[in-house]
Amino acid sequence: MSSGSDPLDLVGAPVRALSLRNRLLAWYDRAKRDLPWRVDTDPYRVLVSEFMLQQTRVETVIPYYERWMDRWPDLRSLADATVDEVLAAWSGLGYYRRARSLHAIAVQVCEDGDGELPTTAAELQELPGIGPYTAAAVASIACGEAVPVVDGNVERVLSRLLLLDLPAGTSRTKLVREAARRLVTLRIDEDDDFVPPGTPLRPGDLNQALMELGALVCTPGEPRCLLCPWSRTCVGRRAGMASELPRKKPRKKPRRVELHAALLWRDDRFLLVQRAEGDLMSGLWELPTTDEGGTVADLERAVAELVGSEVDLGSASVHTVQHSITTRRIELHVHQLQLPPPARVAEDGDDERAGVTWIRRVDLRDFGVSSMTRKAVHGAG
Ligand code: SF4
Repeated sequence: MSSGSDPLDLVGAPVRALSLRNRLLAWYDRAKRDLPWRVDTDPYRVLVSEFMLQQTRVETVIPYYERWMDRWPDLRSLADATVDEVLAAWSGLGYYRRARSLHAIAVQVCEDGDGELPTTAAELQELPGIGPYTAAAVASIACGEAVPVVDGNVERVLSRLLLLDLPAGTSRTKLVREAARRLVTLRIDEDDDFVPPGTPLRPGDLNQALMELGALVCTPGEPRCLLCPWSRTCVGRRAGMASELPRKKPRKKPRRVELHAALLWRDDRFLLVQRAEGDLMSGLWELPTTDEGGTVADLERAVAELVGSEVDLGSASVHTVQHSITTRRIELHVHQLQLPPPARVAEDGDDERAGVTWIRRVDLRDFGVSSMTRKAVHGAG
């Protein structure tokens, strides 16, 4: 940010904001990707897509989104599903709290209301798991409310456009948010009345255009400025600093963690246990696994309790899978063993205890399991 100048100068008057908007929207109308959630901007469909897209790549989300919509095309059908069914459909997308929140929203909206989502960002934020970003995205895209949406893409694009050479933090985010607000509303001051009545503001398209520009053109690393509708105006590009912005927070190195899991077979079925309530991954099924710092002896004790007899994991075959989540790089040692009868399990595979079951490998797709569990089972010979 050059000293003495107003960092928001490029959006300092409605006419300047309008010029940026017009170029951006013309580019978006021409270049936007055909994505399944753009076919129909029904609030529920937008909500599901926004939940799935948090921390997750578009290509990964598309098949999940399409399956979800085939199965639960509206809030009522989702409210009728069980949490287990919802977690199973989410299996592999990670951050399972999102799936639980979607289900909780459906139940709340159908039980307390008319089965319709509210239409303003303020009201949407009252629902479980909806933060300011998702509320603004749904309200602007599906309901036409003129509120800005600021995600990592928008922060990158506007930091470069305005040359915000500032460390990550509140001051930079405040400037980005204000610039996005001016672009979406065309109001610099409260009393600005620049938009002639009847002219569509297209807030949802404007927000999506900013995010799309960040995803396709103003990408992390080296931006593709030659393709950018703002290349003549962009201060970051003119200063030759675009690829250095936005300044990043120094990243913490992920912590390496070693865990042990037991893959215990009885004939063609293996043992799964369900994580307890209150846990971040609660409700998901997994192999019996040690906590951080747990040993093979700890695991033997835990599985002895589960199967009702002593288990010697010393004779198990062991394979290791790697799995990274947020700040942890997990090395999971999977101890695989065929158990002799009798183990405490009914013939049909059901265990009499809640949260304990024996399943065939092909049945895994019907269970809400984490990607790490899937890797552990499929990585076994
Ligand atoms: Fe990003 Fe380049 Fe466009 Fe500036 S000109 S907004 S740096 S792509």
